[in-house]
Amino acid sequence: MIVLAAFFPTQSSGGEDPIESELRHYIAVARAKAHRSKTLVITEDWWRLEGCVRHYLDGAFRGLRVQESSWKTPRKLRKMLYGLWDIEDKQTRDWRELLRNHCETIDDCPSCGFLRDPGLNDAIRLPVDHYLPRSHWPELSIVATNLVPICDTCNSRLKFSDAPKGGALRMYLHPYFDRFIERVALRARVDDGRPPLLSFHLEQGDVTDEEFNVANSHFRLLHLSERYVRRFAQDTLPSIRATLRLVLIDGGVLDAASVTAELASRLRSARLARPERHWEVAALSHVAASSAYARWLLDDVEAAHASGR
Ligand SMILES: [Zn+2]
Repeated sequence: MIVLAAFFPTQSSGGEDPIESELRHYIAVARAKAHRSKTLVITEDWWRLEGCVRHYLDGAFRGLRVQESSWKTPRKLRKMLYGLWDIEDKQTRDWRELLRNHCETIDDCPSCGFLRDPGLNDAIRLPVDHYLPRSHWPELSIVATNLVPICDTCNSRLKFSDAPKGGALRMYLHPYFDRFIERVALRARVDDGRPPLLSFHLEQGDVTDEEFNVANSHFRLLHLSERYVRRFAQDTLPSIRATLRLVLIDGGVLDAASVTAELASRLRSARLARPERHWEVAALSHVAASSAYARWLLDDVEAAHASGR
């Protein structure tokens, strides 16, 4: 399901810590901007700013709780930093482009795992969003690790402006840091209804309760189960139905065993093309093992064939 993009836009050289490298680059861009705009920024402000940014880079993203920094950035400097994401001078623009270009190489949204809309022109890049909003954390306006690629649907739901205060748990997974999600399994299940209703949930595995809470909060707030169910109904199921229907059109015999065999074959194909925790693999794993689902699908395809639907 959630595909993690583990990269840092700034590459370290000569064994340098990438965070140190990012911090130095960031401060250089911000200083140049302050100089050009003749914003009076005293040395002590830069020292405080560096402390504040380092606080987030070193600690806050890596923990599960967003800790407010005790480093108070002066208001004038905060205003200038907030605007860094929008201004068009060359050095800032180049830095922003570097960050965007990295996101251009990402085809799947790391928050939901959906492929970029295939109808979109390749030249259109996955949007970039501030993980912590710059309105509240202007110090992180152009900090690479605060900028994450995200699809439009997730972006419309992710509202970090109401991010928890006072050390409460984070509400969303950070795609660069929260590697523990790789140890959380995505599972599907169907109920006994006709049609059987599909749903998805997470299975804790060996992650801690707090890690699992963050993963579940992300899963719930982005409506991932509903979105995966919809995609299964729109993309996966019609194609399976069409294959089974062709058997009947060609005068063949369809029974529960051949439906189960077709579901198993789809599962094998999905496993070759997708990671194990992909929503389609999770869904097919479950329905291919469910005799009730196979019986429902058989009845559904036969009824559609009989009525000419
Ligand atoms: Zn998404």
